[in-house]
Amino acid sequence: MMIIAKKVRLLPTSEQEQKLWQSVGTARFVYNWTLNRQEENYKNGGKFIPDNELRKEITQLKKDELSWLNQVSNNVAKQAVKDCCVAYKNFFNGKAKRPRFKSRKKSKPSFFNDNVKLKVKEKSVLIEKVGWIKTNEQIPMNTKYTNPRISHDGKYWYLSVGIEQSLEDVQLTDVSLGIDVGVKDLAICSNGQVFKNVNKTKAVRKLEKRLRRLQKQVSRKYEMNKKQLQGGENRCQFAKTNNIIKLEKKIRLLHRRLKNIRSNHLHQTTNQIVKTKPSRIVMETLNVKGMMKNRHLSKAIQQQGLYEFKRQIQYKSEKYGISFVEADKWYPSSKACSYCGNVKVKLSLSEHTYHCEACGESIDRDLNASINLSRYGLVL
Ligand SMILES: [Zn+2]
Repeated sequence: MMIIAKKVRLLPTSEQEQKLWQSVGTARFVYNWTLNRQEENYKNGGKFIPDNELRKEITQLKKDELSWLNQVSNNVAKQAVKDCCVAYKNFFNGKAKRPRFKSRKKSKPSFFNDNVKLKVKEKSVLIEKVGWIKTNEQIPMNTKYTNPRISHDGKYWYLSVGIEQSLEDVQLTDVSLGIDVGVKDLAICSNGQVFKNVNKTKAVRKLEKRLRRLQKQVSRKYEMNKKQLQGGENRCQFAKTNNIIKLEKKIRLLHRRLKNIRSNHLHQTTNQIVKTKPSRIVMETLNVKGMMKNRHLSKAIQQQGLYEFKRQIQYKSEKYGISFVEADKWYPSSKACSYCGNVKVKLSLSEHTYHCEACGESIDRDLNASINLSRYGLVL
């Protein structure tokens, strides 16, 4: 079993939204009340007050002076006492800073919903004393929920909840999948799947070109505004004009966009690979030193995010129960013929097709390597 965190946007009606704010207000009030009780008690020489004692006090208060607390679920107050007690105890034991009072302006609006009472239907969720609220996506049904929290980010409402997923649900095939990573393509799999190098696509090349142009513009502008200072040629001042500030903002946004494109591509690729559900995945040990010596290769490796690719394959394999194997660096994945097993003495980087002198087989170099990887450590 493993717990996966899920966050969905809530789409409350305006009436429901009022009730959500009411719960937020109650949670904040009770948290502050608890903190105040603990602090006053501590000042007067008392020890930490256990949370069940404070909860009893709250129940008593609800009967008369704090009867308005009954308008929201009593779990909101219960959890707020608990949260505050945990925070205060951590401070008490020197594990954390002194907890602060929650202010209306600065603290993040949030409250707790009882996990047992959380019910889920098609694109809607039942929040205690608020009712069924629509969600923008489906929350998995027929599973256990842990620690549901409702929060507001300044614009929208969200529900965060832990969802229990069993690993046995995934039925794996008996395929052993080899993956060869490279510069020409991102990944070539022994089942024939090929995933492109996103940096070679038109869209990315265009953005890269725009980025280089902007960078040149900026340095030219800096050069133009350079002021010579007294005391030698090397001392100068670079003034930041409004124009430069604007250009630098554009550059930052372009970097962000490129980063997002590369990151999305990696996630999509690794998802597609593990979704074929092989029982094991074999990759080669990435030879950093060797690859980084080649300047052309090293930049490509950085941009392709080959380490990140491997990290993702590794943790996503774990999630599905796929065994992940790393072939040792002496394994001749590139030099061996995947058809007859003959091993070449030399194979240059420029040979894109593998020609076998022993059996006459001709095969794509990377596909040949991935097939060899898929057989690593198996007795055939
Ligand atoms: Zn051969």
